[in-house]
Amino acid sequence: AKRNGRGQVFAFSERLRTDFENRRVLFAQIDTALSQDQFEPHFQPQICCETGQLYGCEVLARWRHPERGIVSPATFIAAAEEAGLIRHIDLIMVEKGLDALEDLRARGYAVPSISVNAAPATLRDPDLPDRLLQEVLVRGLSPSDLTVEILENTLVCAHDDTVIRTVEQLTGIGFSVVLDDFGTGYASMSNLSHLKIDGIKLDQSLVQPIPDARAEAIVHALVTLSRSLNMRVVAEGVETPTHFSRMTDLGCDVLQGFIIGHPMDVEGFAAWYEDYTCP
Ligand code: C2E
Ligand code: CA
Ligand code: CA
Ligand code: CA
Repeated sequence: AKRNGRGQVFAFSERLRTDFENRRVLFAQIDTALSQDQFEPHFQPQICCETGQLYGCEVLARWRHPERGIVSPATFIAAAEEAGLIRHIDLIMVEKGLDALEDLRARGYAVPSISVNAAPATLRDPDLPDRLLQEVLVRGLSPSDLTVEILENTLVCAHDDTVIRTVEQLTGIGFSVVLDDFGTGYASMSNLSHLKIDGIKLDQSLVQPIPDARAEAIVHALVTLSRSLNMRVVAEGVETPTHFSRMTDLGCDVLQGFIIGHPMDVEGFAAWYEDYTCP
């Protein structure tokens, strides 16, 4: 073991070095992508269970790379957070998302609202509520046209009260705030007791085991809880007809998932809208 020791240490630090280099390269590429306007929104439809009508859509960031084509957020969100650039991406999604909302409505598509994702760093910006209000007002839109999805872990990580104040301001202005990936964090319930938010988004991990008695019992309990707290329940990762019908029967308000529609660019979304029939 001793004989190999140095070789192993060398290989290890060599790997660390390349990881570090690779990350630095990726940071620089994201920076360039921002200055060359390569981030664009894709839109995933959300359906209202009660009416079967479009409820809204989630705006999901995509990187249109000149050589690599469309790059998924799995490749760049964590790096953008580490590089301190996520706030820019989040705000671009707000701007471009609202532009698309205006454009779609002008073309006659009844899109009630859009949802955007706010990373922890984005939410920690005390100017966020004002910025969002500006973006809505300059387009003649209303705060109720915009939902902000925040990760429940954001709230646990935020040792300061900034995040809590920001959330209170957002809902005070009339934006909707929902807790994303609900059920995956350590403090789901404690977050709910501290914050007046408008809804929860059940994580895919709660939806995908269905049909399954235990998973359905949990969803049922969360729907009941949400009702009594006056919150809506959005279920994501709805992939099968069984997911769709069980989540509807269990009392979810809004469904999102591949069985309804994948994330699409604006033209893809418009085409989806023309063709959509409730499963
Ligand atoms: P998320 O906010 O939980 O978004 C839902 C993810 O689930 C999306 O992945 C979506 O394409 C995927 N999805 C939707 N329906 C289904 C389904 O039926 N089955 C399965 N298996 N997956 C489904 P995507 O677009 O790759 O985004 C991944 C994550 O990246 C997002 O998870 C979000 O955390 C982050 N992200 C994406 N766009 C932004 C953004 O603009 N800002 C920030 N801060 N984060 C973003
Ligand atoms: Ca989300
Ligand atoms: Ca989610
Ligand atoms: Ca997620």
